[in-house]
Formats: sequence, C-alpha cells, structure tokens
Amino acid sequence: MTEPLLEVTALTKRFGGFTAVDAVSFQVAPGEILGLLGPNGSGKSTTFNCIAGMLKPTSGSVRLAGREIAGSTADESCRLGIGRTFQIPRPFRTLSLLENAKLAAHYGAGGSISAEEAEVRARDALRLAQLPDGPDAVVHGLGAAGLKKLELARALATQPKLLLADESLGGLDAGEMRQAADMLKRIRDERGITIVWVEHIMGVLLSVVDRVVVLDHGAVIFQGTPAAAQEDARVAEVYLGPPEARAA
Ligand code: ADP
Ligand code: MG
Repeated sequence: MTEPLLEVTALTKRFGGFTAVDAVSFQVAPGEILGLLGPNGSGKSTTFNCIAGMLKPTSGSVRLAGREIAGSTADESCRLGIGRTFQIPRPFRTLSLLENAKLAAHYGAGGSISAEEAEVRARDALRLAQLPDGPDAVVHGLGAAGLKKLELARALATQPKLLLADESLGGLDAGEMRQAADMLKRIRDERGITIVWVEHIMGVLLSVVDRVVVLDHGAVIFQGTPAAAQEDARVAEVYLGPPEARAA
C-alpha cells in the first residue's frame, strides 16, 4: 500500500468512565472512499471529532500524510486539509448559500485569501454540490437534501484533501440517497479527494465505497470489502441481531 493519507492508531476517547471510542485503528489510502459504519452510538461521530480536532483524543495517534495531528484544534486540522460535514446541518440561516460557502473558504484558508478567491472557491464548491451559486439563493426553504448538500459545499470550500462526511443520507428518501452517494463518488473521481463516509445504515453506501470499517460499542469489529461485510457474521449480528432473534 502507498503511504496512507490518514492513519488512525489505537484511537481512544473516554467521557468520564465511559469509553466512546476504544482503541480504533484504520488507514485510508489517498483517493480511497472508506465507509465507516456502525449502529447509533457506536462512536462514529466521536471518531470524526477526534480526527478533525473538535475533541482531544484520550490516547492514540492520528496521522495525516505521515504527520501526527492528534490534539490539533479544529481550525488547525481544517487548514491541514481535513474538511468535515456535521450530522446535523447548522448553516448561517440568514446568509445566502454563497456567503455560507465563502465563510467556509476563508476559514479553510486561515484568512489568507482575498474575497475574490474565496468567492471562486465558494462557487466551485456550490456547483460541485449541485447547489445554486447566485447571490439570491438562500438557506430558507432548503429541504433535508439541500441542507446536506450545503454541508458538503461548506466542507468542499475549505479545499480539503480528506473529506469526513457524517451521515450524508440522514433524512433523505431513496432517490435523494442515491444522488448523495453518486455525488460523493464524483467528488472523489473528479477531484481526487479522499473520503471517509460515516453512516449508520449500510444500504447505498456499500455500492460506492472501496472498503468498510464497522464499529460496535466504540471498537472495530470488521474491516474489509463491502462484499465481505455483507457476508460477515458479526456485522450481521450488529445490524440484524443474533441469528435466533432473526429467525423469530
Ligand atoms: P455515533 O455517531 O456512532 O452514533 P457517537 O460517536 O455520537 O455515536 O456517540 C458514541 C457514544 O458516546 C454514545 O453513547 C454517546 O452518547 C456518547 N457521547 C458522545 N459524545 C459525548 C459527550 N460529549 N459526552 C458524553 N458522552 C458522549
Ligand atoms: Mg453520529
């Protein structure tokens, strides 16, 4: 394997006596789409928060292109090239889509770019997320799918090398899920952006990702191809319950 873009080793996060992320290790190759799966509460968002600097890991290592970044702040990790979306979109609701994306572009550049350059990056990100980039397009009236796209656009405007997408399918109908999955694939295929994609449901994710890591109770219980994940007894147990309960 070429040098991983992201290397997470024995990552652990405790809240008081509760271990939300328990010695999690995985690697992501440049240009890969990795699916990070697991039921609600299995530690997926906490893992993202530790990688992207929203939370300080209790222990363990996070390396981006060989450089240790565990314990970096959120804005440091953004400037190093980690973009993320949040499970619950919280855009600036009184600003236009373009202004939201421009703020993200400035944030990602650590304030080092001009207003013109921020606008170029913002428009590009909005187009990639298939959102209107005109000054009149507003947040008000966006449905679940539109808000998820805006999350993606804001992350893309920071020009990430690594995109962490948290539950991009939440609240979407079947057609919108397919569109969202195709969009993530296009972001990787056209821009070469490496993606870690978190979902609590397997569904359409399995048709897009190269590899899957499955968490349960904060620990990795499976790593492998999407096909192997569907055949794995422990993955089935986590998702469907024990065999005897399934029969019933
Ligand atoms: P997922 O994203 O897989 O649904 P989370 O990473 O959000 O799961 O949460 C994993 C576990 O950690 C859950 O039991 C959750 O209640 C707990 N948890 C998450 N954040 C905190 C926090 N800030 N303080 C205490 N417990 C937390
Ligand atoms: Mg979550």
